Order: sequence, then structure tokens, then C-alpha cells
Amino acid sequence: MEALSFQNITTDFITDPVFKEKKVEVAILRLDKIHPVISGNKWFKLQYYLAEAQKLQKNTIVTFGGAWSNHIIATAAVCNKNSLNSIGIIRGEEPAKLSQTLKDAKEFGMQLFFISRKDYHDKKVPEIPGRDDYYFIPEGGYGTKGAEGAATILNHCVKEHFSHVCCAVGTGTMMAGLLNSVSKAQGVTGISVMKNNFELEEKIRALLTNEHSFRLNHEYHFGGYAKHDDKLIGFMNNWYTQTHIPSDIVYSGKLFFAVNDLIEKNYFAAGSSILVIHCGGLQGNSSLPKGKLIF
Ligand SMILES: *Cc1c(COP(=O)(O)O)cnc(C)c1O
Repeated sequence: MEALSFQNITTDFITDPVFKEKKVEVAILRLDKIHPVISGNKWFKLQYYLAEAQKLQKNTIVTFGGAWSNHIIATAAVCNKNSLNSIGIIRGEEPAKLSQTLKDAKEFGMQLFFISRKDYHDKKVPEIPGRDDYYFIPEGGYGTKGAEGAATILNHCVKEHFSHVCCAVGTGTMMAGLLNSVSKAQGVTGISVMKNNFELEEKIRALLTNEHSFRLNHEYHFGGYAKHDDKLIGFMNNWYTQTHIPSDIVYSGKLFFAVNDLIEKNYFAAGSSILVIHCGGLQGNSSLPKGKLIF
């Protein structure tokens, strides 16, 4: 497997007439450039879980996710790299044809177990032989160790430069980590990619190591998790033409759309310097028909 290339991470400042008119600066932290598969925040969130598994001498990792999950593929790849066994518990019945994500996870040696959506929702773990010896990582890496890992993300840029940080939010683990690593004066805004996921606020707060205010926005889900429409796809293509930065339909596309829209609506005061975290997730675009995206 290709090595993880943290030296590839860049902070790309974006030129845009609207940003200029609104007197805001926008930069994208390119975590998507670390690795084609383990891109974005997933390795950051996994690192301390894996360290603990190794400390406990557990060499099989079990985790949970859907058919297009970035967390599943990243776990499979990282375990492969570290010579650990991996097991993925996948939401829904086994399909006749595996998604590209699950095919790739299998290539990395991950063993897949499919469970019904109801059992998944109830967090029922199937009877896997030997499971008492396994190390379990929560879905999406949610938890204290995940947030601790995510707190190291901003070591890859000059974080003091920015007045605001914006990120996409799934489980909220990354956002909690970011909040734990910025100063009180820095504003953090999260764009929830799920519809009406109002539990998020509390879930994020549960992972904070100190008090820090934050803003969660629930207006840019485009119909729900992984839902998308022609407006979003059109935006992602235009954004790519303008900036040469690819994005994905589940997270970063919605995030970039939101940041652009919020700037137009004067959400950020003149003089703001906004760091937007590009968390990768580009592999999820393989669920789209070919040709929809120009990158
Ligand atoms: C997982 C993921 C997120 C969300 O991270 P959480 O810690 O679950 O909130 C954002 N962007 C991308 C590309 C992701 O893969």
C-alpha cells in the first residue's frame, strides 16, 4: 500500500471576487492529499484507537459502517498496513453486487459481516467467533480517542493565522477535536451533512476537554446523508474549475457549498480569515454514474 504522505498537506488560499468583496480570506486545508484511500480525517481519528489495540495486544480490529463508508475503507487500509486483522460490520443485507468501497475493503483483507438495518441501529454485534479478543472501534471513530486524534489535524497548518475554522460534521468527532485544539477566540462552525441530526450538539460537547462555544448549521444537508441533487453536483464541478480542488458528494461538496453561501449571506464579519478543512472522502464519489463529475 502507498505510504501516508502528510508532507503533501497544503493550505490553499482561494481567490474569488465574492470573498474579496466581502473582505474575507478563505483557505482550504487539504487533508484529501494524504492518501488516495485513507484520506481526510479518518487516519487522524483512528490513530489512538490503534495504539490502544496494540498496547492491549489485540490484533483484530472490528468496526461498523455503511456500504460507502470512508471509515470502513480507512480502517481496512490502516489495518492492512499495520498487519492487523480487520472486520467490518456492515449496515444492511449483503447486496448481490458489492459497492466499490466494500470491494476495496475486502482487497485490504477486511472480513465483512452484513447485518439488518434494525440490528445495526440497535448496535447488535453478530456472533463472530473469538470476538472477546477483538478490539472494537465505534462507528465513524466517535469517542474520546477519535477526538484526541482529530485534535492533531491543525498541527499541519499555521492555525493561529485563522479567526474561523469550518468543517463538515458526521459523528462530530473531528469537530470536537478541532474545538479542543483551537483558542477560545477562534470561531468554529460545523456543517451537518445529515438531516435534522439535532443530537449532534450534545455528542460534540461530550468530547470537549474544555468549554468552547461553537456553531452547528443544519441547513446544508441537501435532503440527508449522501443525498445530492444537480445543484450540488453543478456547484462541485464549478468549484473544481475555479479552484482545482475536488470534493465529494457526502461531506466536502456540501461544506464548500455552505461556506460560499454563508459568505454571501454575510455570516462572517469583514476581516475574517476562514480555514476550511477538506477531509477527503473522494472515494465515495464512485457511487455516482460516470461523467457526472468533471474530475
Ligand atoms: C468522516 C468524514 C467527515 C466527518 O467526520 P466526523 O468526525 O464523523 O464528524 C467529514 N468529511 C469526510 C470526508 C469524512 O470522511
